[in-house]
Amino acid sequence: MPFRALIVDKAEDGTVTPAIQSIEEDRLPEAPGESVTVDVSHTTLNYKDGLCLTGGGGLVRKYPHVPGIDFAGTVRSSEVAEFSPGDPVVLTGWRVGEAWWGGYAERARVKGKWLVPLPEGLSAAQAMAVGTAGFTAMLAVMALEDHGLKPENGPVLVTGAAGGVGSVATAILGRLGYEVVAVTGRPETGDYLRRLGAARILPRDEINETVKRPLESETWAGCVDAVGGAMLARVLGQMKYGCSVASVGLAGGAALPATVIPFLLRGVNLLGIDSVMRPRADRIAAWGRIARDLDMDLLDSMTVAATLEELPALGPKILEGGVKGRVVVAL
Ligand code: NDP
Repeated sequence: MPFRALIVDKAEDGTVTPAIQSIEEDRLPEAPGESVTVDVSHTTLNYKDGLCLTGGGGLVRKYPHVPGIDFAGTVRSSEVAEFSPGDPVVLTGWRVGEAWWGGYAERARVKGKWLVPLPEGLSAAQAMAVGTAGFTAMLAVMALEDHGLKPENGPVLVTGAAGGVGSVATAILGRLGYEVVAVTGRPETGDYLRRLGAARILPRDEINETVKRPLESETWAGCVDAVGGAMLARVLGQMKYGCSVASVGLAGGAALPATVIPFLLRGVNLLGIDSVMRPRADRIAAWGRIARDLDMDLLDSMTVAATLEELPALGPKILEGGVKGRVVVAL
């Protein structure tokens, strides 16, 4: 039976165009190693999907291509012993949707070892409401905890707070009892962020300026940073002694116009967070924490539904910082 796939193709003049096509299973490229074919029930939209839908960032090298860096669904057929037809599974990362065909199709074929069993207590739709953005937010919180973060240490900053990573980080930290200070460039999202768990909103303009002094008042006990650039440089100089920033994203830029003074004089730590090549054991642990520490009603409140047809328009929108919270697509 043919199935629907959102296929992005590149014309000779370099134009990248997404279109929904009906394709047969034999068009699914082989996966590297023993594979599992999945009936995809849900997918989502991340910043990287915006790049893959529009041909940005040089992420997709081979066309035609099916984007979608995350998906959830049930196993259709399996070459690995761990999975059997009907098993609910979730996939994030491993360059699926970039180097390999991804979740913007009703069927996907991937390396079996890349799949994680759908965590107990989460539906496929909830797993996609979390998606790479939320999974990475959880990894960031776990890294901060591993470096000593505790609620009594003081306020924790979340940058890019109204975006996907930021919304989930705010909700998790709020639920864990932290005083969350949410940085946003969209003042209209203030009520939304407070409902998620932010104690205070910090307008982006107040923290987005270039570093003038390498050290400012010691203010933050931790930070989940989705923005990078000038904002991250500024935050480093405002960290309390010995505290850590989890660097997750670059929505505000890849450059880091900072000095090393916060590292040398305050023992500040900059923790790199990668979700893509993360070992499987960490993935299972993080999904377990998500099922435990993320309030599912709050997750619902930060999620909007979209269709496969709407994804081509949503791609450019997320790149402009115009998507609030998380998007779930039922296939
Ligand atoms: P979103 O677009 O949903 O969120 C990004 C948010 O950053 C926006 O909502 C906006 O928040 C803020 N923002 C956007 N542009 C700027 C700017 N120019 N200056 C300051 N703030 C800005 O994306 P995601 O949450 O999905 O991803 C966030 C980042 O994390 C991306 O760079 C993404 O590539 C990265 N990422 C990295 C992962 C990893 O493994 N390391 C995994 C997942 C994501 P507001 O409106 O509140 O200001």
